[in-house]
Amino acid sequence: MRKIRFCTGCDKYTLMEKCPVCGNETVINSPQRYLKDEEISKYRREIKRKVLREKGII
Ligand SMILES: [Zn+2]
Repeated sequence: MRKIRFCTGCDKYTLMEKCPVCGNETVINSPQRYLKDEEISKYRREIKRKVLREKGII
């Protein structure tokens, strides 16, 4: 059984090692984990921006 791979470029599942849509190399890593990391870093950036705004830096 072939492993399902995931293109982080266009958020699509594929069985190909290279995404047939954008040509990016696909990953076997769980997209859920990827999305979680992505969400966490987004959240961190928001907090940082909020803190900077409260301090009057931006
Ligand atoms: Zn792609």
